[in-house]
Amino acid sequence: MKIQFAEIPDHGLVLEIKDQSWFPEEEITKTGPVWARLRLQPKGRDRILLTGEITMPLQLECDRCLTNFNAEIDGRFTVDLELVAGEAQVPVDHACSAEEMDALYLLKPEIDVFDVLTQQVFLLAPSKKVCSEKCRGLCPRCGANLNSGLCRCKPEESTSPFSVLSGLKR
Ligand SMILES: [Zn+2]
Ligand SMILES: [Zn+2]
Repeated sequence: MKIQFAEIPDHGLVLEIKDQSWFPEEEITKTGPVWARLRLQPKGRDRILLTGEITMPLQLECDRCLTNFNAEIDGRFTVDLELVAGEAQVPVDHACSAEEMDALYLLKPEIDVFDVLTQQVFLLAPSKKVCSEKCRGLCPRCGANLNSGLCRCKPEESTSPFSVLSGLKR
């Protein structure tokens, strides 16, 4: 879905995205429809300020017990879209690295809305995922899921939520 700068009125343009085709389902599992709203506000002739929000019901894997769980992730973001004069001025990796997402440089006066959304989904997806604060993780010795009961290993070894980590170091 592409929006031309010329299509955006001076007072801005609000888009509600119900289309799901853009969602990176190969990398991230969703459990229901993803909802997104974007506001495109011109800031001068060559600049558009994009503010948006995404609500997405995701299936995540717990870092501690490796079990899948569902979580609804809400996020807001702001991206400064700037039209640059010529290709020569844009370093190749500039437009797509994650650190630069707050500013995106465009070669054409055209915004690929689905591209912006896809990048935001990756930024908003949590890097630390725990099914519950009380999750007891896996036994570092036998790999049993301690949420469903204690295993036969010594209890002292398995009560800490960090037991998986110390198990890996060993
Ligand atoms: Zn867990
Ligand atoms: Zn065990």
